[in-house]
Amino acid sequence: MKVLRGGTLIDGTGAGPRAGATVVIRDGRIEAVATRPAADWPHDAEIIDVSGMTILPGLIDCHDHMAMHGYDLARRWGIDEPESTRTLRTAKVLEQTLAMGYTAVRDAAGLDAGFKRAIDEGLIAGPRLVVSLCIISPIGGIGDRVSPSGFSCCVPQDPLLPDGVVNGLADVRPVVRRVVRAGADVIKCATTGGASSRPEHGPRDGAFNLDEMEALIEEAHALDRRVMCHALGGRGLRIAIEAGVDSIEHGCYLDEEPELLDAMAERGIFFVPTFAVYDFHRKSPLPYIRERAHHLQEHHFESLRRALAAGVKIAAGTDAGGHGHPKNAIEIECLVKAGMSPLQALQAATGWAAECLGRERDFGTVEKGKLADLVVVDGDPLADVTILQNPDRIALVLKGGEIAVKRLPSPEPR
Ligand SMILES: [Zn+2]
Repeated sequence: MKVLRGGTLIDGTGAGPRAGATVVIRDGRIEAVATRPAADWPHDAEIIDVSGMTILPGLIDCHDHMAMHGYDLARRWGIDEPESTRTLRTAKVLEQTLAMGYTAVRDAAGLDAGFKRAIDEGLIAGPRLVVSLCIISPIGGIGDRVSPSGFSCCVPQDPLLPDGVVNGLADVRPVVRRVVRAGADVIKCATTGGASSRPEHGPRDGAFNLDEMEALIEEAHALDRRVMCHALGGRGLRIAIEAGVDSIEHGCYLDEEPELLDAMAERGIFFVPTFAVYDFHRKSPLPYIRERAHHLQEHHFESLRRALAAGVKIAAGTDAGGHGHPKNAIEIECLVKAGMSPLQALQAATGWAAECLGRERDFGTVEKGKLADLVVVDGDPLADVTILQNPDRIALVLKGGEIAVKRLPSPEPR
């Protein structure tokens, strides 16, 4: 048994902070949460004094690319270094991500299911993973990996990362089934281009027809997998929402069709804006990427404000990988800059994020019965959310009640 005592609790439900909180952990789960002082613990209980600190649910990133380490073609194709080197590089990123209080990550393509197994077996440290393996798109979509010269000859096909290219309606269901067979927990697809996609396939250029998306979603749901859909604007964004995806990733031009936001609220479709990645795209060496990222910026902020007003739930995601692996909590700062309150932004990275993953029964909030995924922060993140990006402020990280990081002073002998 472990007892966290004396901290200020922000429980991830959207409720305000509660001072003097005690969290009791037994067998990896939260047994009790209280705000009254108590001292009658079993003699073998490990009492951890967190006075003056803030207890949060373990943080969640709903859109990351843990196994990607750059946007250039050689890195995207995985031909720039030996596979073993890249695997160990990815393992290091997983370990560092957990150490910053991120106890769950949804990978939006690139990470194979073997990493999840390695973490579950204790071979490496890392967050709980929800993996998608690859991006399902039609020919020419963002999952179709061809070079600017039109070649794809050098792309090695890893059986653990199946090809997500769909040739037409009849091909949709077999591709979904193959991706699930290779270990996907969630289906990632794309109905538009993006900021960094090839010049002819931009943020409001469509991919997929409505019947193809309907088949994709029906098949994914039949296999109990949610669908996360990369969609920035235009016709493809509308098709994704009409077909009934479970989350819209990026959604930069949702403000152009406000009725889509009402449809999202009504159907419980989450919005994962991934603001952080566009700050990097605005500094891209490629002019057309910079131009796209600048053009969408104000629309993106307006989309968030309208989504909140419409009652759409927001989930935090960095879309890291291509631009390296900054601290994941950079997205919490971005959400605040875009118009969320610090408390809402924390909810987007905890309670709402867990709902987006369909894992709210297990984690995302500090409540009786949930897994003891917790982070203790030295300071008040509501006063300054950027402290979550500072490793010196991440005092304690628990995953399933086990200590992943502890930077607290040693307890006095009792
Ligand atoms: Zn992404």
